[in-house]
Amino acid sequence: MSAQRPIAIVTGGAAGIGWEIGRRLAADGHLVVAADRVPGLTAGENPAGIVWRELDVTDHAVVDRVFGEIEAELGPIAVLVNNAGIQRHRGIEDLTWDEWAAVVDVNLHGVFSALQAAGRRMLERGDGVIVNISSISARGSAGRAPYATTKAAVIGLTATAGAEWAARGVRVNAVAPGYIDTGVFRQGVDAGTLSLDTILSRIPAQRLGQASEIADAVSFLASDRSRYMNGQTLYVDGGFMVDYGVPLAKRPE
Ligand code: NDP
Repeated sequence: MSAQRPIAIVTGGAAGIGWEIGRRLAADGHLVVAADRVPGLTAGENPAGIVWRELDVTDHAVVDRVFGEIEAELGPIAVLVNNAGIQRHRGIEDLTWDEWAAVVDVNLHGVFSALQAAGRRMLERGDGVIVNISSISARGSAGRAPYATTKAAVIGLTATAGAEWAARGVRVNAVAPGYIDTGVFRQGVDAGTLSLDTILSRIPAQRLGQASEIADAVSFLASDRSRYMNGQTLYVDGGFMVDYGVPLAKRPE
């Protein structure tokens, strides 16, 4: 199958934010490959114009092989969005090694594997864009040590790859979402691990973000409109990261 449209791979593209990113990039004119570990998905176009590809990003060799197959079948990878991510909620002293390693495997090793596998191919052509998904949790997040650590590492990897490849036609940037109203977020609220009222009180915009708002930022970074941006992390968080003030009982009107 050959494609006229530029190829965009979105890891973890079967659900939540990744799904919205895929829809947005498809609307922008990309042929989107939603690469996700969700079992049972097979190649074939769905109504949204997104091609499914089963992929577990934790296996470095498999990621490289699958990206090679995608290029052989569909064409050169123009855009990679490293979106797949997981988290585990537990205090550092109680974390098991398996919990720590599982998050590092997906959120850091998975991001590196896909970045390297796509980046090498893009460098050969001197053309390509990579967008990594970090998080506001990168600055530290009690009860989520592996998540916060890996999301901070993604910012470092983004800056480094952005600097290494800037003169060679490959741009690497990141989006750090704030609290986004996804199914996973709602599950956290329902399970009592997240307090919606507390979270809202700390967001200057006083609302949760929408997955489509993250997709808008990814669309910008994936496009030529951001052509002079390299290695940056764009916070899309309703002002969460810039408000270090004393929590007010009531915000100024
Ligand atoms: P979801 O869990 O809804 O979606 C993530 C997708 O990634 C799922 O389909 C998941 O599959 C898949 N995935 C998990 N592990 C792997 C793997 N090893 N290989 C391939 N795919 C995998 O998460 P969100 O949409 O909420 O989050 C998307 C990204 O945004 C993540 O990186 C997250 O850390 C980040 N983020 C999210 C925020 C939020 O408020 N939701 C805030 C800040 C950042 P499965 O269902 O099988 O696990």
